[in-house]
Amino acid sequence: MKISTEHLVRLRNERSWSQEELAIASGLNLRTVQRVERDGSVSLQSKKALAAALDIDPRDLDAKPAARLCPVCGSDDIYEYQTAYSFSSDDPLPGLGSAFLSAKIRPSICLACGNVQFSASEDARKKARTAKHWKAVNG
Ligand SMILES: [Zn+2]
Repeated sequence: MKISTEHLVRLRNERSWSQEELAIASGLNLRTVQRVERDGSVSLQSKKALAAALDIDPRDLDAKPAARLCPVCGSDDIYEYQTAYSFSSDDPLPGLGSAFLSAKIRPSICLACGNVQFSASEDARKKARTAKHWKAVNG
């Protein structure tokens, strides 16, 4: 499995431990600690040993997906609606057909600037190039 190398190194540094000290505290050998900090690959047993040495829940070492940032302001304070749904009234992408209306969408909002994002169906995306009133922003 993979863990977050960045998070592991930060936790170790917060304790002012060397890799060797973490190895001793966790009962792992130094080479294992060095490998885990380099590429994040770790056995479940080693992950538990590291978490115990750092006094944290093993899940706190899990690799997290890269943060999704707002394309407008760059904030990471983004909330996403957790249940996919279909629009039932006005089409938010006028002229791109009913394909969008039947597509499940999952909107997200940037709490910093208010930017709202959602994904259009493939059919709607194909139509956008030729549909009336839709124009490429970047030429
Ligand atoms: Zn924003």
